[in-house]
Amino acid sequence: MLRNDMKPATIAAQAAGAIDLASGGVVPPLQPSTTFVRDRDYQLVNQDNVYLRSHNDAVRLGEDILSRLEGAEDTQLFPSGMAAIAAVFRTVSNGGTVIIQSGIYWGTTKWIRDFCARREITLHEVEASDIAALKAICTNHKADLVFVETPSNPWLKTVDIAAAKAAAECAGAILVVDSTAATPLLTRPLELGADIVMHSATKVINGHSDVLGGVLSTRARTPVWEAICMDRNEAGAVMGPFEAWLLVRSMRTLPLRVEKMCANSMTIAEFLANHPEVEDVFYPGLPSHEGHTLAKQQMSSGYGFLMSFLVKGGREAALAVAGRLNLFHRATSLGGVESLVEHRHTIEPHTGIPESLLRISIGIEDVDDLISDLNQALQRED
Ligand code: PLP
Repeated sequence: MLRNDMKPATIAAQAAGAIDLASGGVVPPLQPSTTFVRDRDYQLVNQDNVYLRSHNDAVRLGEDILSRLEGAEDTQLFPSGMAAIAAVFRTVSNGGTVIIQSGIYWGTTKWIRDFCARREITLHEVEASDIAALKAICTNHKADLVFVETPSNPWLKTVDIAAAKAAAECAGAILVVDSTAATPLLTRPLELGADIVMHSATKVINGHSDVLGGVLSTRARTPVWEAICMDRNEAGAVMGPFEAWLLVRSMRTLPLRVEKMCANSMTIAEFLANHPEVEDVFYPGLPSHEGHTLAKQQMSSGYGFLMSFLVKGGREAALAVAGRLNLFHRATSLGGVESLVEHRHTIEPHTGIPESLLRISIGIEDVDDLISDLNQALQRED
């Protein structure tokens, strides 16, 4: 295993130092067995492994890598990002109170609203990028947890994590940060005070659009964390060995991918900001973005791979641009090596997303090819 003081690129490239001692392979083995054998004296052959729901070597390795990248005390992998979010919210007792950021990933908002209604949990939704608004609600209400997403999807709003932690403390709540769009490399929410950081590993952590996964990493082994671990083990929302093995394989190139995606994204955001057919661009790297100053402090080496822009001419014009793109795949999701475009209003029509908004996830293709694709798609036909 690698020493703890290694830099992210080394941790990721060497999979935290995992080699297969049995074969000598420099790649960890893939072990699909659901159960593990005992000897004739009924002693476990491997003390660490009894049954796959609780003991999965590939999952443990993925968790170790992510803990090191996040500076976390412990990490749990889940079979999807939503399973990770659900695991956090299930620690809130019936009749409790939660405060969440408004205008975040619609799947999260929708599930939390339904869950809170079922469990008689009081739910406050607040624009947490407006830290005064978050503070006000946290001062006036006791709560179990505060949940923010920064940068947010699809608006790319940035939340001041250290200030959100101070606000959460006023409410007596823990702070949970969905850092999916910031990746484990650009922001370190636990160092800024977050209690738990969450990622959809389906996005850039896996990065190849072929594994669903979710991550929770904690600053300390608190009772809430122990409840999350116990629930995953006993209720069984676990990642399978093949997915975990693929995730570990993918994470070897995570820093390289993030670096290239950030560089591509910055160039593309500047191109779009100067394009006459584009009304507005939402990307924290642009000085014109309302969260730019904060993003500069909170995102160390880049502003991520996700952005949204408004096409002049409304719904028809935006859909026509999406339809003319040749390299960007018209598909939901984000964080893959291939660039994607999505008309979010089609997915969540009643949530205030403008019909002219296109969200793009920038991959690792050649940036000139991506720009010429966007450029031809933005040419009006009339
Ligand atoms: N959080 C964010 C910011 C997301 O964009 C998504 C999915 O798009 C999720 C959470 C949910 O993750 P998953 O699709 O892996 O369940």
